[in-house]
Amino acid sequence: MLAVLTTLTPALNLGPRLFRPTRSSMVRMQEEVTIAPPKDVVDAVIDSTTNEAPQAQTRFTAVNLNSLDKWAEKFPALEPKLKDIKMSGLIFPFKASPYVIEELIDWEMEGDIGDDPFYRLIFPTMGMLAAHHREKLEAAAATEDPFALKDAVEEIREDLNPHPAGQKELNAGKKGMEDLTGVQHKYAETVLFFASAAQTCHAYCTYCFRWAQFIGDSDLRFAQKDAGSLFDYLAKHPEVSDILFTGGDPMFMKTRLIKEYFEPFKDPTFLPHIKNLRIGTRALTFWPQRFTTDDDADALMTTLREVKEIGGRHIAIMAHLSHVRELQTDKVRAAIHRLKQEGGVIIRSQSPVMRGINDDGEIWAAKWREEVRLGVIPYYMFMARDTGAQAFFDVPLVRAQRLYADAIRSTSGLCRRSEEHTSELQSPI
Ligand code: SF4
Repeated sequence: MLAVLTTLTPALNLGPRLFRPTRSSMVRMQEEVTIAPPKDVVDAVIDSTTNEAPQAQTRFTAVNLNSLDKWAEKFPALEPKLKDIKMSGLIFPFKASPYVIEELIDWEMEGDIGDDPFYRLIFPTMGMLAAHHREKLEAAAATEDPFALKDAVEEIREDLNPHPAGQKELNAGKKGMEDLTGVQHKYAETVLFFASAAQTCHAYCTYCFRWAQFIGDSDLRFAQKDAGSLFDYLAKHPEVSDILFTGGDPMFMKTRLIKEYFEPFKDPTFLPHIKNLRIGTRALTFWPQRFTTDDDADALMTTLREVKEIGGRHIAIMAHLSHVRELQTDKVRAAIHRLKQEGGVIIRSQSPVMRGINDDGEIWAAKWREEVRLGVIPYYMFMARDTGAQAFFDVPLVRAQRLYADAIRSTSGLCRRSEEHTSELQSPI
């Protein structure tokens, strides 16, 4: 039954609210961005899946529920977890990169592998559901009636608040934006752009606040193929200085697609009021090879550098970085070095604070210290939104503020680069 339903159940994801690492007294909740992978556009990028557990992964191949049995042969600590992952994977989206499984999870750790921060980050578990939802799902699965199970899955997902913080309303076309299905103009100076080929990630975080989009919630699907419409809109809005390319993950796109959006900015006279191109991505630590050994990594560096040097734009990588461990592999260090040296970008870090992943001031302090050493600017700390597995990861605000203060106290001024604010989309912290 699980195998049948696994094939019927697309991936999903949920996301966070934020606050930024600084001493300021204001706290802003800002959403992290993520979206559903429309099936018709995902074909445009490399996203193959396999049932094999590869030995030496050089080309990106997504790990899905169907391939986990093979991975359990390679990492035996996974074997006792398979049933739990596959059952909870009916509700939550699952997708991993070989890099995350092989290099970020500590399979040799003492105790329950379920306590590893990167295991928690990637693998869903029934513990993410309330008791009554677990019972409902297990009872429906026991009937072996796929329609009963489908109904139960849909009801549980609906109970998990799949549209937090007014996402439906925000995504609805506004006056003058009716044809811009992948554009949000929520802040006066910043436009968010959701490229259609970027509506997936190399792996899915179990806490992503846009989880519903990864399981095919059509209400939340919005993305845009057409760069021209975006540029037309920007031409009419001289108050906009920043574009935030988001998704999913824009760095999931092949460079030839990224170029369609970036290359016009090599001309300094093209939309000259657009000064900053921001890219929200987790590819840096979910698939750092994107920036080093992928077959179009060189072309990506060239594009980024030329937009900066010829076009005179600032390119900011907004890197999702949750834990100091992510910064400790040779691959990620090589990717950071290359992005800075050859791409000419500035990398800033951001992450939600999540129980069992990074709810410890020393983890944040160590992360910020290592970021500064590697030339990454600490930027945002988010709070989890009330959606999906939020109860599983929830860190009470008072505790988050305490660990934030602890981290700030034990780091130098270079780690305290930004302010805390309160977003108009969230309750004040
Ligand atoms: S990388 Fe970002 S968009 Fe993708 S699943 Fe994680 S939180 Fe969501």
